Amino acid sequence: MAKVSHNPAIGAHLFIGGIPTFMRQPASRDLEGVEVAIIGIPFDGGTLVSRSGTRSGPLKIREASLDLFKGCHPIFKVDPFDKFTRVDYGDVAVEPLSMEDTLKAIQEEVGAVLVSDTTVIALGGDHSITLPLLRTHAAKFGPLAVIHFDAHPDTADYEVSHATSFYHAIKEKLIDTEAYIQVGIRGPSILEDVEAARALGAQVLTIDECFAMGIPAVIQKITELMGRRRVYVSFDIDSVDPAYAPGTGSPEIGGFTSYQILQMVRGLAGLNLVGFDLVEVCPSYDHGEITSILAANLVLEFLSLLAVNKSKSS
Ligand code: MN
Ligand code: MN
Repeated sequence: MAKVSHNPAIGAHLFIGGIPTFMRQPASRDLEGVEVAIIGIPFDGGTLVSRSGTRSGPLKIREASLDLFKGCHPIFKVDPFDKFTRVDYGDVAVEPLSMEDTLKAIQEEVGAVLVSDTTVIALGGDHSITLPLLRTHAAKFGPLAVIHFDAHPDTADYEVSHATSFYHAIKEKLIDTEAYIQVGIRGPSILEDVEAARALGAQVLTIDECFAMGIPAVIQKITELMGRRRVYVSFDIDSVDPAYAPGTGSPEIGGFTSYQILQMVRGLAGLNLVGFDLVEVCPSYDHGEITSILAANLVLEFLSLLAVNKSKSS
């Protein structure tokens, strides 16, 4: 019987044991020459009335990623692990009892990573972490085009939380509202929230509109709106139906399947993508790791999107 190969860098066989970094990428904060950093932000202090526990998201997404195989992407025909240098940066030093200190820590740590010209893929945490992420990215790139997958608009008008991050980001002019789209919005009493989001300048595709148009038309609408702008992708796992992503704090029935979300994420290939977050994975409500496996696969898709762009530019 063939032996599994040994990886001396992590002191383990390739699939068994070792340090659970994202897909076994090196755990490092030396960003010299590093093109992509995966950063955990284990903070759920922005969760209001819904179920807390997204602080464990980064850990479980990394754990689920250990079973993913590296290799050529089936659609893009590129291998993201050949295309650029990556690290797992570890986690931002969040302060569980202080939103203010956590925002500051995220801005300082992620800001320092962006200064090194490293692209960030952030793992949440609740959706409040997107506000400091947008602050750091906008400081570097200017106001950003944003693709926001979510069941909820997150544009309520009150203090910073996971339900208000995009309200604050718009008010702080971090988002270019000419190119800000929310995709998958739904819920039993969402009408007023959608109106409020549209009044702030967001384009909103409710889930009903998405399904009426069909996924290819949704992709076309998104890509036409983004054009050649610098795009930040903020991905709330609750955009996916709770049958496919039960491990989340504010589940809304009637969402995308995992295959539909995969189609849409793959549809972003070729856009000028400058940053990503994947938020609201709440492992304590997960079953059979369905949600963290989906999340880990989506992070691999984000890496693959960056690889497509890299292979075009090189
Ligand atoms: Mn959200
Ligand atoms: Mn949501």
